[in-house]
Amino acid sequence: MSVVQELTAANARYVAGFSKSGLPMPPGRRLAVVTCMDARLDPARFLGLEEGDAHVIRNAGGLVNEETVRSLVISHHLLGTQEALVIGHSDCGMLTFTNDELHERLGPESHGIDFQPFPDVAARVRRSVETIRQSPLLPDSFGATGFVYDVESGAIEPVE
Ligand code: ZN
Repeated sequence: MSVVQELTAANARYVAGFSKSGLPMPPGRRLAVVTCMDARLDPARFLGLEEGDAHVIRNAGGLVNEETVRSLVISHHLLGTQEALVIGHSDCGMLTFTNDELHERLGPESHGIDFQPFPDVAARVRRSVETIRQSPLLPDSFGATGFVYDVESGAIEPVE
C-alpha cells in the first residue's frame, strides 16, 4: 500500500466516525498557535485542541515573519482570534544550518533567499512574540505568549 493509499484509508475511518459538521469558521477558543512544521509536534494533542478550536500556523521554525503576520491579521480581524501562542521546540532543524551552507548546497538559484535559520530557539521565540506585539496591523489587546516545547518530554515551558 502506498503512503497515499494509507492516508486515504485513514481518512475513510475518520469520516466514519466524524461528528464535527456544522462548526463555525471562527476558532471557538479565539486562539491562534504558531509553531514549527517538525513532525514530532502535534499541537492539537499537546495543547488539547479539538477541531474548530484554534488556527494553527506552521512553518519551518515556527517563525513569526511577514507571511505569519499575514495569517495572524486575517485570523484576528476576520475571524476573531484574540491571542497567539508562539511555540518553538528543542532539537529544531533550523539550528542545524546557516544560509551560507544552504546557498552553497543549493547553488546560485538560492542565493537571494533567506531561509531564516537561527542559533537559539528561546531567543527566536522572544523575537516572534515581539514582532506580534509591535505589528501595526494587530491591536495592543491581541495577546502573544512564547513557549518552547521539549521533544523529549512533551512539555511546554514559557519563554520569559
Ligand atoms: Zn523545528
